[in-house]
Amino acid sequence: MIDTAELPVVDVHCHPFLNAGALTPEQFVDLASFPGGGVSYMAQAGLPVDEALIREIQTIRRNVVYMRYLVRQMARFLGCAPGLEEVVAARNRAVTDDYKDYVRRLFAACHLTALVADFGYPQPPLSMPAFQQDMPVPVVPIYRIEPLIVDLLKAELGWDEFRRRYDEAIAHALERDGYRGLKSIIAYRTGLDISPLSRTPDQGMQALDAIRRGTGGGAVKKLRDHLLCRALELCIEYNVPMQIHTGVGDYEINMPDCRPALLMELLRFPAFRACTVILVHAGYPYCAEAGYIAGMLPRVYCDVSEGIPFAGGGARRIYAEVLEMAPISKIVYGSDGLALPEIHYVSVLLGKQALAAALQELVDGDLLSPQEAHEAARLILADTARQLYGVSTN
Ligand SMILES: [Zn+2]
Repeated sequence: MIDTAELPVVDVHCHPFLNAGALTPEQFVDLASFPGGGVSYMAQAGLPVDEALIREIQTIRRNVVYMRYLVRQMARFLGCAPGLEEVVAARNRAVTDDYKDYVRRLFAACHLTALVADFGYPQPPLSMPAFQQDMPVPVVPIYRIEPLIVDLLKAELGWDEFRRRYDEAIAHALERDGYRGLKSIIAYRTGLDISPLSRTPDQGMQALDAIRRGTGGGAVKKLRDHLLCRALELCIEYNVPMQIHTGVGDYEINMPDCRPALLMELLRFPAFRACTVILVHAGYPYCAEAGYIAGMLPRVYCDVSEGIPFAGGGARRIYAEVLEMAPISKIVYGSDGLALPEIHYVSVLLGKQALAAALQELVDGDLLSPQEAHEAARLILADTARQLYGVSTN
């Protein structure tokens, strides 16, 4: 059996979090769950937020396979009975006793050695130094472009000034503030069907003008598409990777518009081929599409976050699908962990187990030698991400 347990891990996509302190079992389940579909979304949908609704959502969340897995794995780590109440009581003691040491022990137990963190979520952003201080491993910060776009739209700027401030904010993030790459969640906003011809500055000017005058359907999409193209150009200029969210996400995602296949025309356009792009979430559940694009385009990679850990038993299949067409050197591990360090921890456990199973299947079929499978595991769990983000940990 391919053994991944002791291999070092770099998490190529996760989010910062601060010490949440002692939690009730309900709060723990809320924070550890896949985001979206919770009480606030139900309230937006017009459902009365009463005790009955809260109980209903809690039951739904506790019945997700991923949550059952998380509770059992945490019970093993904490040395307590495998029940939610017992796990939360034990983790509360550890967190209250010494939070930093608790995180250190979690990460050491699964050999998690570095985090590439998208500071665009949660909003308002958490303090980068505060998060870095809590973490026992290096943190590589990533800059999300959408909050910047929202801020610039609020200011009543003409196009030249809008565009100048957009470029300047990204330059400051990369040159001065320590960010080591960009990220876009345009899939959540106006979708991934983006024409590469959107790169012309005239499109940005026209779209902003239409937005200001309140005319022209689709102007916001045209503006966002243009600004994504500009971000790709800036990534090439600064030689940093661009992370693009693909596949499903929280409650608001427009599922048909988040398929990675929609990005193919943009990413193969001559002006953007030089950009290193990571298809975040490997387009889950359209993972084979993301793997195909990573196989076709020399600088495109895919990360398996979100599906791992939140799709639970789907983890092995996610690896198996991307391994169909993506080179082993173009797949990177990620968790989309947020809110609690326990998510980052169980995601590594599940990710390692699933990767071992997927690679073993290839060895059993004589598609890879055991040696090649071991090399693939090292690349996927840490080495490729280290190279992409210049992380030099062991
Ligand atoms: Zn994320």
